[in-house]
Amino acid sequence: MSHQWITVLGATGSIGVSTLDVVARHADRYRVFALTGYSRMDVLYAQCLRHTPLYAVVADVIQAEQLQARLKVAGLQTRVLQGMDALDEVSADQRVDVVMAAIVGAAGLSPTLAAVRAGKRVLLANKEALVMSGALFMQAVRDSGAQLLPIDSEHNAIFQCMPGNYAEGLAQVGVRRILLTASGGPFREMPLADLVHVTPTQACAHPNWSMGQKISVDSASMMNKGLELIEACWLFDARPEQVEVVVHPQSVVHSLVDYVDGSVLAQLGNPDMRTPIAHALAWPERIDSGVSALDLLRTARLDFEAPDPERFPCLGLARQAFDAGGTACAILNAANEVAVQAFLERRIGFTDIPVIIDYTLNCLSPVPIGELAQVMLADRQARACAEQWLSNQT
Ligand code: NAD
Ligand code: MG
Repeated sequence: MSHQWITVLGATGSIGVSTLDVVARHADRYRVFALTGYSRMDVLYAQCLRHTPLYAVVADVIQAEQLQARLKVAGLQTRVLQGMDALDEVSADQRVDVVMAAIVGAAGLSPTLAAVRAGKRVLLANKEALVMSGALFMQAVRDSGAQLLPIDSEHNAIFQCMPGNYAEGLAQVGVRRILLTASGGPFREMPLADLVHVTPTQACAHPNWSMGQKISVDSASMMNKGLELIEACWLFDARPEQVEVVVHPQSVVHSLVDYVDGSVLAQLGNPDMRTPIAHALAWPERIDSGVSALDLLRTARLDFEAPDPERFPCLGLARQAFDAGGTACAILNAANEVAVQAFLERRIGFTDIPVIIDYTLNCLSPVPIGELAQVMLADRQARACAEQWLSNQT
C-alpha cells in the first residue's frame, strides 16, 4: 500500500503528540509532511528527529533560525518555515493527503480552512475553528469535497454511531436525538460558593483526560461542552434542541445516538484520544491505536446526570450564541479565549469567565456571516471588548 502524507498542525500539543504516537505505529501507512509548533521548540526538534518531516513551521524568524541550525547539525533535510502563511501552505500543499487540525483556538482557523478548501482529509480537533465560522466552514467542506472527520471524542463517537447516510438529514435516517456526554470536570461536586477561589492548577487537573490548558479550563467551566454542542449542530446538521448534554463522570461512554425505534447506540472506550485519532486516520478501516482494551468489570459503574445550569452557566451562553446565529459564536469563542487566558494568568477568578463572555455577547451585535473577514472582525472586536472588561477591573 502506498503511504499517505500527513501535516500535523499543533504537533507539540497534547493532540499533536498523541497523533504522532499513532502515526509512528503505522510507518507503512503514513509519512510526515509537516509538523508545526508555536512554543516547546525542544519537543518540535525531537519530533523532527523522530519523524523527519519535509517541513517544520514555527512562529517567528528567531525560532526558525535556531531550529534550522539544530536540524542541520543533526543532518536533517527538514526545511523550517515561519508564520501564519506557512501554516496555510503546509495544510494546502498538493502533496498532502491528511491534515490533523490540532492548533488550539482561533489561531487554527486559517490553516484548517486552507486544508478544507484544498479538499484534504481533515481531522478536526480544533473545534474553535468550526464554532467561529460555522456555515462558512461547512460550505467550504461541501464545495471542495474535503473529508471532515471529528477528533473530539464525543463527535467521533457520534460519527461512529450514525448511519453512513446521515448527511441526508437526521429525521430522514431515523435519528431522534444526539446525547452528548460530559465528564462534569473537576468542579462537578464542589460547593458553589468555593468556585470563586479555585486556582488554574485545580481547573487543569481533569479527573479523566490529560489535555492542553485551555481545553482543561473549558472542561471545568463546561464551555467545552457549549463549544461541542455548537460543533455537533454543524457537523451533523442538528438543531440545538436535538442535542442533549448528559453528565457522565466516568468518561467511558463517549456519546450516544438515539433512534426513533428506541435504539440507543453508544461508543465506549478508555479515555485516550489515540482512539478517535486512529479511527479518523484510518476510516473506514480500523488500525491499532496503542489504547488498551476497555475492562468493563473494572469500570463497574456508569453514572449519568443532568448538567446544573447554575454551576455551569457557560453551557447556556453557548446555546444562546448559537440561537443568535451569525457572528455570535465567534464572539462567544473570542471572549472565552480572552477570559480563559486571564484566568490562567490569575488576573480574574474562575467565576468571572462567564461574566466576561456574557458582557461581550451583550456588547456586540452579531451579523450574518457572508465571508471570513466578518468572522475575523467579530473575533477582534470581541477580544477588544473582553479586554475592556478586564481593564475596567484594575
Ligand atoms: P495544547 O495546548 O496541548 O496544544 C496546542 C498546539 O497549538 C501546540 O502545538 C501549540 O504550539 C499550538 N499553538 C498554540 N497557539 C498557537 C498559535 N497562536 N499559532 C500556531 N500554533 C499555536 O492543546 P490540545 O489539548 O492539544 O488541544 C488542541 C485542540 O484540540 C483544541 O482546539 C482542543 O479543544 C482540541 N481537543 C483537544 C483534546 C485533548 O484531549 N487534548 C480533546 C478534544 C479536542
Ligand atoms: Mg470533547
